[in-house]
Amino acid sequence: MNLLNKIKSWKRLFSHDVGIDLGTANTLVYMRGRGIVINEPSVVAVNQKTGQVVAIGTDAKAMLGRTPGHILAIKPLTNGVISDFETTEEMISYLLGRATESSNKLLSPRVVVGVPSGITNVEIRAVRDATQNAGAGEVHIVEEPMAACIGMRLPVHEPVGNMVIDIGGGTTDIAIISLGGVVRSKNVHIAGDKFNSDIISYVRNQFKILIGDKTAEHVKTTIGSVLPTHAPLELPVKGRDLVTGLPKEVILTDTDIREALAPSVEALIESTREVLESAPPEILSDVMQRGIYLSGGGALLKGLPDLLENEINIPVHVADDPLTAVARGCGVILEDLENFREILVANEDELPPKK
Ligand code: ADP
Ligand code: MG
Repeated sequence: MNLLNKIKSWKRLFSHDVGIDLGTANTLVYMRGRGIVINEPSVVAVNQKTGQVVAIGTDAKAMLGRTPGHILAIKPLTNGVISDFETTEEMISYLLGRATESSNKLLSPRVVVGVPSGITNVEIRAVRDATQNAGAGEVHIVEEPMAACIGMRLPVHEPVGNMVIDIGGGTTDIAIISLGGVVRSKNVHIAGDKFNSDIISYVRNQFKILIGDKTAEHVKTTIGSVLPTHAPLELPVKGRDLVTGLPKEVILTDTDIREALAPSVEALIESTREVLESAPPEILSDVMQRGIYLSGGGALLKGLPDLLENEINIPVHVADDPLTAVARGCGVILEDLENFREILVANEDELPPKK
């Protein structure tokens, strides 16, 4: 090993490389050698008078829908794209600062960032710039479904079709990966947030009551099931009676929620079918044999894996701890960056010039 390489490998021992899963609902930070160190909602509260960030993560989420006029709680990554560049940069900067608090400040971290598949070059550049401005030494970008597969330890380098459906808050990524690349993918805006708004609409139409987003989320995660349950599930919920304007309580059942979610769930299944139909035959046969892998918080929706399996006739597996699969994948990449270089989204400078 020559001196330069020796110094480089020695520096790595003291560095504080991080992986960031920039999700629409949750942002996770993985630190090399330490695992997941931050897991917070992707929300930022900004004081509009001063332009200053007041709170980030859990604290900011608690402010959603409850802020005085001049404080704005923003979800900067709604729909999986960086809809608010400055706030995203603030958030990354805060996260990097917090994650590397106790580390050597002289070495800038290498950062692996997961982004939704199918984001545009402009958006990729925005993520790269935001991360660089936030203090990263090197920025590497990976598509989230790829990171999810790596987090699930699927053989992404091999010539076999690995299919993953990552159901997040704002978007669902459906992708087939083989030989280190994304062979087919589709990104749809049907995910956890849409399920919540489906529940809100259903309750408004059926019961003439307005419920909030948090209530809808609670309903979804406690009694939401896309297949009939062994014993019926019930939950009393409070909302505003649209006729009288006063508070009112109704009892919701799992059947209500199934009905509310049916069109979105059907659309998700249809999108999955489309990706399968567009896959080359060899890849399709791999997927039929190896099954489909689910990650993201949406994979926890009760009954979804079984329903998908019944509808598509392909085995469905759920990642262990689906909410952290992407972050863990970013971590695996960090630990062995050389081996994973080919799966990263190429830097524009490295691409051959466009004809
Ligand atoms: P993102 O990657 O977009 O940040 P996540 O993978 O963190 O999204 O998933 C967040 C979504 O998962 C939210 O919409 C949340 O409501 C949903 N979710 C979390 N737990 C459950 C559950 N037990 N049942 C159904 N949905 C869930
Ligand atoms: Mg995600």
